[in-house]
Amino acid sequence: MKQKAVWACTLLLAGLSIGAAQATDLTVRVDAREVARKRVHTELTLAVKPGPLTLVYAKWMPGEHGPTGPLESMIGLEIKANGERLTWSRDPLDMYALRVAVPRGVNHLDVSMESGLATEGAGSTAAPTSSAQLAIVSWNQFLLFPKGVDADKVSVSATIIAPADWTVVCALESKASPGGAYEFESSTVAQLIDSPVQMGLYAKLIELKGSEPHADLTHRLSIMADSAAALALPGGLAQGYSRLVAESGALFGSRMYRHYTWLLSLSDHIAHFGLEHHESSDDRTDENALSEADLRMGIAGLLGHEYVHSWNGKYRRPKGLLSPDYQKPMDGSLLWVYEGMTQFWGAILPTRAGLITPEYFRDTLAGWAGHFDTEPGARWRPMADTAVAAQVLYGAPDAWEASRRSVDYYEASVFLWLDVDAELRARSQGRITLDDYVRRFYAGASGAPQVKPYVEQDVYDTLATVAPGDWRRFIHRHVDPTGTTALLGALERTGWKLVYSAETNAYVEARQKRKKQTNRQWSIGLILDKDAKIIDAIEDCAAARAGASPGMSVIAVNGQRFTAKVLDAAITEAQNTRRPIALLVENSDYYRTLSVEYYDGPRYPHLVRIEGRLDTLSAVFSPRVQ
Ligand SMILES: [Zn+2]
Repeated sequence: MKQKAVWACTLLLAGLSIGAAQATDLTVRVDAREVARKRVHTELTLAVKPGPLTLVYAKWMPGEHGPTGPLESMIGLEIKANGERLTWSRDPLDMYALRVAVPRGVNHLDVSMESGLATEGAGSTAAPTSSAQLAIVSWNQFLLFPKGVDADKVSVSATIIAPADWTVVCALESKASPGGAYEFESSTVAQLIDSPVQMGLYAKLIELKGSEPHADLTHRLSIMADSAAALALPGGLAQGYSRLVAESGALFGSRMYRHYTWLLSLSDHIAHFGLEHHESSDDRTDENALSEADLRMGIAGLLGHEYVHSWNGKYRRPKGLLSPDYQKPMDGSLLWVYEGMTQFWGAILPTRAGLITPEYFRDTLAGWAGHFDTEPGARWRPMADTAVAAQVLYGAPDAWEASRRSVDYYEASVFLWLDVDAELRARSQGRITLDDYVRRFYAGASGAPQVKPYVEQDVYDTLATVAPGDWRRFIHRHVDPTGTTALLGALERTGWKLVYSAETNAYVEARQKRKKQTNRQWSIGLILDKDAKIIDAIEDCAAARAGASPGMSVIAVNGQRFTAKVLDAAITEAQNTRRPIALLVENSDYYRTLSVEYYDGPRYPHLVRIEGRLDTLSAVFSPRVQ
């Protein structure tokens, strides 16, 4: 009710000139009419008191788990008090903090900021967020606010002006004014940053069917793309996502949002990832991703993952990952819960909903298990360290990734949670499963977003209420050691084991297609990009033993110009002839032929049933809602 009262007040003020008394602590007006040329103009009005003031730009970003606020996008700044320009200076020890002296008698500052958005392949920390036809505006990029405040306590009135004819969608309610400006419902800085705006020329909004609990809540799938053709929806898509909503309700038993909107952006010119929010998610993938069945299953995994975060990550969040002022450094120790359990349910729920087939789910699991099975990095870096070091690993280059290890807690934890599920089933003759734990850990009153922080012991205490036992010890068998003993053992407890064969893996194929890579990590041990540059060479595999390494380019295979097909033919031929494969590689302008001694033919990971063992894996992904 309080928000509604302030909202009415803000609407009245919108007609007054900037500089009038503020009903809110902060007014932000983003002019994104030039977003297609990657330039944005912002005007801020901040309520202040006279004296020294430090303004900050959001640094530690929720969901990105690192100091990733794209500060370099600031390309112009002017701070004024009563029309007079003030001088400002940067804190020499904190790049995100700007100091200014507020003159006597001044109660607000007018800030004008210019932003130059990231371009493709620029190598900056910021990822491209806009194309010629669409953009995702993340408010954190256009805000300055006083240092040391809890962003949840700073009230804000926000407006955005989009390019003419573009559709604007956001989890916050908005009202369009005649000048093309969208005025959003009154919020706080934290709520605003948690509610990115999707805008674009080609847009489609799909209302999904609600489900218990709270069947009246609105769920929307907002799709924007670089072309009208990319918006063509395959039959059954809306029904599939409505089932996902139903399966999430059956699992969690609560809904921690007032409404939920997936902001799905389809473009080959923006960075591809998903970012979770309480009431929406920013989901980005290829322009053609809706047109092919395997890519659609990839989208289901992405949308499932970000949706699960509304409960796991946004509502229940590790205490160490809270940064109320976006300046407090984050502690990623529990990312194997925050991201790992999300990755688990983000794959399981779409499979329960029928958006992912059981075969594709098993190939996905095989791809992940196979990755860890060959990854040299798992031999020296424990999964726990991939979480703690996340803030470095997210931005690390692809070169040497297999040896370095990446943010492996996503997929490695899936096996951890499968193990917990199998253990719960084993202790209860199948009566208790991980679903029961979830129902307890994420319990709460449905409705407006809230955060309920937790510490590691809370996970074990809740597990113990479901089934008594030393859960810390059980789980740390996965988290602390190096190697893959616990991971592959967990898979086998579900009644399936990892094998390799010449048959391709659907998940690996789809991933290669999406990333435009040639992945032969399980045979000769190479992953190549679309230009045949070696992204990574698995140390100890045949190609690396022959001298291949990241950064080199493969020019020819057995004397023939490289293509994936030519390489595959050579791998098969070597199996028959037992003669080494000749790889002509270029290394910083010099050519060399490597003799790759690999004779085991094409090799891809798969899961096969273990005869006589109970198939609990299929029980995990079977639908709960009929
Ligand atoms: Zn995530």
